[in-house]
Amino acid sequence: MPVYSVSRLGVYETCPRQYRFQYLDRLEVPEVETVERFLGNRVHDTLETLYKNIRFGRVPSLEGLVELFREAWRENWHDQVLIRAPDLTAEEYRRAGERQLEGYYRRYAPFDRDHTLAVERRILFPLDRDGGVWFQGVLDRLSRARDGLWQIRDYKTGQYLPSQAALDEDRQLGLYELGVRHLWPMAGEIELVWHFLAHDLELRSRRAPASLEALRRETLARIRGIERDETFPTRVAAHCETCSYQPVCPAWRHREEIAASPAAAEAVGWVDRLAELKAQKQAAVAELDAEIEALERRIADYADAQGLEAVFGTAHYARISRGERFHYPLKDEPGREELEDLLRRHGRWGEVAALDVRALPARVHGGEWPAELVDAVLPFESREETVTVRVAKRPDAGGSP
Ligand code: SF4
Repeated sequence: MPVYSVSRLGVYETCPRQYRFQYLDRLEVPEVETVERFLGNRVHDTLETLYKNIRFGRVPSLEGLVELFREAWRENWHDQVLIRAPDLTAEEYRRAGERQLEGYYRRYAPFDRDHTLAVERRILFPLDRDGGVWFQGVLDRLSRARDGLWQIRDYKTGQYLPSQAALDEDRQLGLYELGVRHLWPMAGEIELVWHFLAHDLELRSRRAPASLEALRRETLARIRGIERDETFPTRVAAHCETCSYQPVCPAWRHREEIAASPAAAEAVGWVDRLAELKAQKQAAVAELDAEIEALERRIADYADAQGLEAVFGTAHYARISRGERFHYPLKDEPGREELEDLLRRHGRWGEVAALDVRALPARVHGGEWPAELVDAVLPFESREETVTVRVAKRPDAGGSP
């Protein structure tokens, strides 16, 4: 039985094909480790050691803590760590990690405001009532404050600072709260706490039982959507840059094969010629469009000046008609919401609203709709195979796009 996690769901949402490679095919590939992830792992290692020492009453000095971090950095560093920012060095990232820990130490030493119940603790819990879907996670730290309040703490080392509203909806710690409540039903109030170490900031949130229940249902619906997926499409975007599955991914594999396979090398010429023809076609269409527009304007002006409704050629004639085009605010344009409200209030919305069938596939297969609704809609769906060949600039080709 598969065990789900926040990162597993995140991989599917980023790219379903990567999900298939990683969790279903379980392909073994060397992982790309970015320096940001490396830094995060070393800070987590250091905080884990700190809190394990504190259990035995051993509070290291600030220098001692920084030395622990440096040691973990030295021991784990390897040449494959990917630094994408061309103007930053590994040394600068290491110093950034040290500063984060220094700030944390100064804010919380001597670390006696709460009692640590668990650190880097893996939790496993059922997400549905009959135990058919299990979820797992790792709590960075679980603590109990002096007033008895339980706190699920998460350490963030990145620069990104989410809004309070986003944290109040955060899926990861919300799901962890479900897990903590399952494992320790005696826990009363629970607080979710994020430490944004790069900003020396601590942000908090609490969840009402109804919002936890909604999160549980929504996550189950998402999992059912994943389990229904049969195609696991690729999703090509900037994240491909750090994806370890590029050599086997149908969206990128050809690039790797060009040097080794004559058939793959031959296809290079086809794409080059196609790109050339498409560019020529685009230029020709633009030129024709401009000429057509200019002639239409000239004929309409002539017809106006002569009081004509039609102008004749040898075998064709051009009929000129004038009218008015009405415009109402489109989706996302100002006034759209007010207009919709107005029509609803007058009971006329149904006369002008239409079912958006182009929006349906994403809803039906996106995992957000309840299974009963999806099952009821599916009999109306039919499929037809389509083939589209788009030509784009290679990301590694350089030059202007
Ligand atoms: S390379 Fe890109 S498209 Fe291919 S599996 Fe990885 S993330 Fe998905």
